[in-house]
Amino acid sequence: MKLTILGCYSATPRTLNNTTSQVLEINNHMFLIDCGEGTQVQLRKHKIKFNRIKHIFISHLHGDHFFGLVGLISTFRLLTREADLHIYGPKGIKEVVTLQMKLADSWTNYNLIFHELTSNKSELIFEDEKILVHTVPLNHRVYTNGFLFQEKEGDRKLKIEAVEAANINVAYYRKLTQGFDVVNEKGETIKNESVTRAGLKPKSYAFCSDTMYKEDIVSIIKNVDVLYHESTFLEKHAHLGPKTKHSTAKEAATIAKLANAGTLLLGHYSTRYDGLNAFKEEAQEVFDNVELCEDGKTFEF
Ligand SMILES: [Zn+2]
Ligand SMILES: [Zn+2]
Repeated sequence: MKLTILGCYSATPRTLNNTTSQVLEINNHMFLIDCGEGTQVQLRKHKIKFNRIKHIFISHLHGDHFFGLVGLISTFRLLTREADLHIYGPKGIKEVVTLQMKLADSWTNYNLIFHELTSNKSELIFEDEKILVHTVPLNHRVYTNGFLFQEKEGDRKLKIEAVEAANINVAYYRKLTQGFDVVNEKGETIKNESVTRAGLKPKSYAFCSDTMYKEDIVSIIKNVDVLYHESTFLEKHAHLGPKTKHSTAKEAATIAKLANAGTLLLGHYSTRYDGLNAFKEEAQEVFDNVELCEDGKTFEF
């Protein structure tokens, strides 16, 4: 997986700070997560091909997470896109997008397929042969979901010497990598585990923004490899968390620790602070493996 941070600041875009948007490259997909104002400029800047984006996941309908969406949809139209575009987001997202297209009388010549979300429980919203995407219900001022992206368990690997010694016909090798027991040329049943081993460990990524501290997401994101959790505030402004329904860096780290995450990525910083190091320092009081998101930064895992 490769994650590119297009923007990771809260509230408003500024000369050097963009609002939330990320691209997750996973098994040939380019998933766009949130689409703050100016996302299409950031996509161009980081040379991400527009036509590879077929799925857009929007956490909530605050402007810093979706004001770039209509612009991007419109640009896709001008570029004569033909591929379907799937948009996952809160109920209302279809209305807000189509109203703007209707008043401009500029409908897309490709299919826009909306998947509107209303559940307060985690649900499966995307699945193909190799990937699963679940929602992570969050606690914010409006209806908000994070998203958990998971690779499925990969094929098992053959222990070639063992397979050959067991007299298994080559025609059954595919069955073995799929995890089935098979019958060998002498008619004996061969247990799968005796001739195969587990494939690569599947990876996972959770995006959790915007939210106040919400401990019950831990069970959904347990053991995630990489967790992005918003950290709008430092401890000195912790009192603003419940009021604005945002988190501090320390709270993000507490969630990472409880979830046994591999790495914590911080972002959605309030622009009231000079520099980001204090976010990392405060988070590391609770959880060691902390990285700071910055616009344009990439993470491979
Ligand atoms: Zn926000
Ligand atoms: Zn928000």
